[in-house]
Amino acid sequence: MTTIHPKKKPRWVDLVLIGAILTLTALIIFLVSMQNGDDSFKDSDQIALAASSDIVKEKSKYDGIYKITETSANKNAPYTIQYPKTASKVFNQSVTDAVHNIRDHYLKDMEKVLHEDDSIAGSLTISYKTIVHKKNYYSFVLTQTISDGTGPKQKYIKTFMYDQKNKKQLLLQDVILSQKDLTTLSKTVKKQIHKDAELQDLTKTTTVKEAIKPIWANFENYSLTDKTMSIYFDGGELSKNIPKIKTVNIPLSTINSILANPYKIEVKKTVKKKTEKPKKFVALTFDDGPSNTVTPKVLKVLKKHHAKATFFMVGSQVNANPKMAKKVYAEGHEIGNHSYSHADLKQLSNAKIKSQLSKTNKAIKSATGHNPTAFRPPYGSVDKRVRAQTKLPTILWSVDTRDWEHRNSKKLLSYVKQYTYPESIVLMHDIHMSTANGLDAVLTYLEKQGYTFVTVSELNDQKKK
Ligand code: ZN
Repeated sequence: MTTIHPKKKPRWVDLVLIGAILTLTALIIFLVSMQNGDDSFKDSDQIALAASSDIVKEKSKYDGIYKITETSANKNAPYTIQYPKTASKVFNQSVTDAVHNIRDHYLKDMEKVLHEDDSIAGSLTISYKTIVHKKNYYSFVLTQTISDGTGPKQKYIKTFMYDQKNKKQLLLQDVILSQKDLTTLSKTVKKQIHKDAELQDLTKTTTVKEAIKPIWANFENYSLTDKTMSIYFDGGELSKNIPKIKTVNIPLSTINSILANPYKIEVKKTVKKKTEKPKKFVALTFDDGPSNTVTPKVLKVLKKHHAKATFFMVGSQVNANPKMAKKVYAEGHEIGNHSYSHADLKQLSNAKIKSQLSKTNKAIKSATGHNPTAFRPPYGSVDKRVRAQTKLPTILWSVDTRDWEHRNSKKLLSYVKQYTYPESIVLMHDIHMSTANGLDAVLTYLEKQGYTFVTVSELNDQKKK
């Protein structure tokens, strides 16, 4: 018979097993002691501050957004950290990475400090507020207040913008797209700093210049409401003397052009009205008519341009062409008195002046059914005595086109171009065909210059405003 001895275990296997058990036990003891926190190493020289804490998750008032609060009641290194939690894992990771990084640095620093003096207590608080743009874009503005117990508290800011609909993080590069736009933003921030009582004297300091240079990192802390973009600067970032966090607010209306489409706001039309240029008025006047041949052509051109003008009529001409006078009135133009026989009124007695004017008034009233509303003396020949003979306002002119002299359509335009300015009264005559022929070009030019055509009385009303 042969006895088969089982193969004997070599002795080294036992040794390895015992070694492994001992190592594991030591490791477990170490880990357990780590979990118990700081107290376990009190007797030794080591201090281990672990990130052990209470974690509370609660609903926020924003749909789908939770508020996380992490606290540690450690007497030397307490902290309270709050941050948002969204439906996006990637976004949440980015937030927790940032806050845990801050926390871990704080704990490491506290370990060093406590190594020197274990009675010191630091503090760390991270809190945040939620700012909403267009109901979908959330800006979470995290404020960090930190002290290692040996110096004053310091304040830092960190923002995260979240697109709720597309469940993703938005960087400033998503909101304003180009380097050129960033330069515009930087200039706008500078302007706003100029308006800030605390900062306006600092704009030329190197610190401020560096802090608002158009590089993306300078503006990474930002938020958006429906009206404002805020850019945040850490305590001390703009000036050592300003330890608090500084917010520069920019009205979105001033940077709408650099915002990417989803973030643009509707600029109300009233804003546009405010910037509209004041209207430029010009009063065109036609003397010595009405004429059965020229006046109809003048009326046609005025109608084409929807322009209203003033016709200073000679009484005898009205009586000769009453239908034409009536047509001028019917088309909405103003009618003025230009004496009965185109007389030089300064040369006449009071009685004769009165007669010249009243005969004309009668002629106009009888032709149109209405009294004239202005008076222009022929040749501009007028003085106090002449003026005293009528209650009508005396209207002269500021631009003499000399159409009666040159009788040239092109020259008519060049005189207008050369001398017309806002509120001009332009003198022309509706008895020369050259004037009627050149009128279309004159009105086209004035329209392009932005002029509105008014009667002399309307112009007087505008001046009173
Ligand atoms: Zn005249």
